[in-house]
Amino acid sequence: MSDSRLRKSYDRLLAIQAQLGDARLGCPSVEAIAALLAREGDEEARLALLDHVMGCAFCQPEFEMLRAAQRASGSQETMDG
Ligand SMILES: [Zn+2]
Repeated sequence: MSDSRLRKSYDRLLAIQAQLGDARLGCPSVEAIAALLAREGDEEARLALLDHVMGCAFCQPEFEMLRAAQRASGSQETMDG
């Protein structure tokens, strides 16, 4: 998978997100979804967020996208937390 291609689709997602701003009330920010992937923050909050993401037509592709990007960006296995 090429890095520039990933970046392109990510830019596109951000543009879509900007357009859909009003329709996405209640949706977590990209940062929050990224934090979910990074296993940052309170576990209960993360589970609630994951619950939303998996059932949301906007957030789910975003989550998959970020996950793919994270995998592509190297296999850094950090032990923080
Ligand atoms: Zn959502």
